[in-house]
Amino acid sequence: MSAHDVVIIGSGPAGLTAALYAARASLSPVVFEGAASGGQLMLTTEVENFPGFPEGIMGPELMERFREQAQRFGADLRPLDVERIDLSARPFTLSVGGEELQTKAIVLATGATARWLGLDNEARLAGRGVSTCATCDGFFFREKAIAVVGGGDSAIEEALFLTRFGSKVTVVHRRDELRASKIMAARAHENPKIDFVWNSVVVDLLGDEKLEGVVLEDVATGDRSRLDVEGLFVAIGHTPTTDIVKGQVELDDAGYVVTHSGTRTNVRGVWAAGDVQDREWRQAVTAAGSGCAAAIDVERYLEAEAFSGADEVVW
Ligand code: NAP
Repeated sequence: MSAHDVVIIGSGPAGLTAALYAARASLSPVVFEGAASGGQLMLTTEVENFPGFPEGIMGPELMERFREQAQRFGADLRPLDVERIDLSARPFTLSVGGEELQTKAIVLATGATARWLGLDNEARLAGRGVSTCATCDGFFFREKAIAVVGGGDSAIEEALFLTRFGSKVTVVHRRDELRASKIMAARAHENPKIDFVWNSVVVDLLGDEKLEGVVLEDVATGDRSRLDVEGLFVAIGHTPTTDIVKGQVELDDAGYVVTHSGTRTNVRGVWAAGDVQDREWRQAVTAAGSGCAAAIDVERYLEAEAFSGADEVVW
């Protein structure tokens, strides 16, 4: 079995930018996009802060453009999930779709997935009023009361989007001020359809067949109250998707891949780009930037390896 130069796992802005740069460097990258390609921007509406699009662009359209650009230079995009990675021997081995393949380098760009509250009824009522994706499910809540949990940009973005559908949108936040950027917060405060419940958390979900309301708890007093809503959107951040490399690549206490000197992991020949390694910025443009950096590093690494042999390459 001949080894590929580089395999990229993930197809958000980080993975597809790494693919674009690796393809242009003639590394014939194979990209495992995952069954759901495109990453978190596929679940968003208008992206206003990706440079080069002064009018804004819809998330899915932006990702389609990323894909087309990577494919134009020969990136091999495959809509599959990687099942297993073995980093114990070089070249590395990956199991995908029941087959094995080998690669000299890997860029991990598996991103992050939405977090849930962890309440007993949450799984039962998911898809029956409880969701983590307003763009996917907002449409079902026309003229209904909706709550959004969280105080970051995601929560405010969801709340603003949901005002197109709901009769009223209540943002429930556990502190008395938003974490969201000033411009997003100002828009929410100015929107007559949005209300805030401060210093409160959702402690229970009510309803059998579908959501009928939530129980709120004031974090200062412990007082509980009922809020009647038919929709609840949970927007409390994300968890990095790192199960596949757990025990093989160094992760931090929250499960993010630890990177050094840019995007290198602790395993020689493995890089991590985008949200899977970013606790701090988590923007589409920073993810794309780190994907670019990883691909340039891969190119230099493979060149040095070809010249001096894998074991000589300083990591
Ligand atoms: P985030 O910034 O980490 O915010 C998560 C929010 O959820 C925080 O307000 C947090 O409260 C709250 N929270 C966390 N766990 C909770 C729990 N168990 N119960 C109740 N509340 C909980 O995450 P994000 O909003 O998903 O944003 C992630 C990154 O993407 C950020 O860098 C953001 O700027 C970026 N982003 C940007 C845009 C945009 O520019 N249009 C849109 C979406 C996301 P505390 O505030 O108390 O910590």
